Amino acid sequence: MTPYTDKYQVLKQVFGYDSFRQGQETLIDGILAGRDVLGIMPTGAGKSMVYQIPALMMDGITLVISPLISLMKDQVEGLNQAGVHAAYLNSSLTANQYFTALKYARAGRYPIIYVAPERLLTDSFLDFALHTKIAMVAVDEAHCVSQWGQDFRPSYLKIIEFIDRLPCRPVVGAFTATATQTVREDIVDILQLREPEVVVTGFDRSNLYFGVMAPKDRYGAIHNYVETHPGDSGIIYCLTRKQVEEVCERLRADGIQATRYHAGLSDGERKKNQEDFLYDRATVMVASNAFGMGIDKSNVRFVLHYGMPKNLESYYQEAGRAGRDGGPAECILYYSGQDVITNQFFIDHNQDNQELDDLTRELVQERDRERLRKMTFYCFTKDCLRDYILRYFGEYGANYCGNCQNCITQFETVDVTEEARALAGCVLASGQRYGVNVILDTLRGAKTAKIRQYRMDENPYYGALAKVPAVRLRQILNHLLLKEYLTVTNDEYAIVKLSGRSEILLKEERLAEHGPVTMKFAREQEKEPGAGKETKGKKKKLKTAGSIVLTEEEERLFERLRTLRAELARKENVPPYIVFSDKTLIYLCRMRPKDQAAMLEVSGVGQHKLEKYGEAFLAEIRNGENMG
Ligand code: ADP
Ligand code: ZN
Repeated sequence: MTPYTDKYQVLKQVFGYDSFRQGQETLIDGILAGRDVLGIMPTGAGKSMVYQIPALMMDGITLVISPLISLMKDQVEGLNQAGVHAAYLNSSLTANQYFTALKYARAGRYPIIYVAPERLLTDSFLDFALHTKIAMVAVDEAHCVSQWGQDFRPSYLKIIEFIDRLPCRPVVGAFTATATQTVREDIVDILQLREPEVVVTGFDRSNLYFGVMAPKDRYGAIHNYVETHPGDSGIIYCLTRKQVEEVCERLRADGIQATRYHAGLSDGERKKNQEDFLYDRATVMVASNAFGMGIDKSNVRFVLHYGMPKNLESYYQEAGRAGRDGGPAECILYYSGQDVITNQFFIDHNQDNQELDDLTRELVQERDRERLRKMTFYCFTKDCLRDYILRYFGEYGANYCGNCQNCITQFETVDVTEEARALAGCVLASGQRYGVNVILDTLRGAKTAKIRQYRMDENPYYGALAKVPAVRLRQILNHLLLKEYLTVTNDEYAIVKLSGRSEILLKEERLAEHGPVTMKFAREQEKEPGAGKETKGKKKKLKTAGSIVLTEEEERLFERLRTLRAELARKENVPPYIVFSDKTLIYLCRMRPKDQAAMLEVSGVGQHKLEKYGEAFLAEIRNGENMG
């Protein structure tokens, strides 16, 4: 294939898109000018296009380093569908397939090759790489090089060794969706990027709705959600394998087409279940965090968390798998106090840390606990959830987004000064030695053996807040921690301590300056949130893409096009969204192209796909006109 010379031409002809998204063009221009680049863009922002387009324009091969087999397969399928020759080299190939692919690669068949980091320094791969022209090395999920990141992979350290061995240094591009400042610096240092063009696009995913619930009956709440969103594709993340199995089994018993995924299943079952989900044979995937890195399914309409993940990086990455097509999608976290303890346990027993020296291990654990704390506060805050996430990643959001649970909930502001003062007083009087539960039990005047053993029944605040319901008292304490009137220690004991701001509660004159301590409570507290109907998504949702809302007639056409897409996908053995995204189907319904030229105008339809599928879709659209 002759290299293209015009990036807009590649965008349109190969991928079927009219314009670049934010950040893409700057990075592509950088690469084409021979510069290293670092692209930090949220999931779904279109990072792959940033290296795929120059790959088709440069003289030489582009190697894409990617940590996950499923991602490679998906991307290569997508490229093949767009008419681009691409291949992947990883452990899923037999020796024969591997050498055949290498043979083709040597013959110059592939402008783009995906390769697993473990392969880079093997003899066979080096023998190929050292004798061919490598134009670019694109490192996907680049945060994996950093020990401070949330998923460090030692094999990523081989990348720089590999680049150093090449006779001619290629352009190096690094891409990731989650990177705090430390991790960004690590990426540049470890991959030795040379004065890279850095683009950080907004982390905001405005099409995602965020919510947090703490229902008494978690399963009931999740089941209710799934039932009120029939036909929608979604993921339910659980903290443990056991939970995955339980939730999946119950959903199936309740008639939901659910499948499951976790590291304890056989390779065969994992592969099958994942494909069932990708190919829309199962609508709901119940999974552990082992699922999803590299899953490009674009029409995931909801991501529910049955339990709080260990940090916001993980949460935002997992939640971010919803709505990659840009359509509205919902991310709801179903929280329970037990989740903190489960996560503490994970942190204290993290096998990956066993190899580290003592000092580093302590540091890593300390950071992990701090991250967990910030994650916990996400569940407590009554402020805009999107704003909370963006601030965590170092961006400034508006403090009202209008598309998260806190922004659409009516709150009332309540004076909790008295309760706050008693809590701080109790902590001080007991010598800052006890954890959250002991403090709460003391104030509530509990008659337990533990309270007597610690002689907390002699504390001056014993029973001082006996009239405040336990749940509410806990909420108040959480609020005080969130706003740093009190703190907890960062170890497994979580001892409540005084902070710099505690004086406001303990000293009259400081309180007088500060004014009353207030916090927000949701107005309809008597209703169990999450267990009942959600306000959003209760009625049948119309299909939407951006500002387009389909009419009922268009919706019927959508369903027919979707069936057609499923048939074509089945024949070719690829996931349906690889044929066309939901968004493209929606555009087709709205624009109803009459001929090939008109169809080429539709976003997501490139030359190759037009030739392949154009007539079938045009016929189905005409069919609708005749019927209508
Ligand atoms: P990322 O790797 O950043 O998570 P992808 O590269 O998988 O994101 O892109 C997400 C989706 O957006 C894909 O369906 C892709 O085809 C689409 N996309 C990428 N760039 C554009 C663009 N310029 N215009 C329209 N759609 C795009
Ligand atoms: Zn908001």
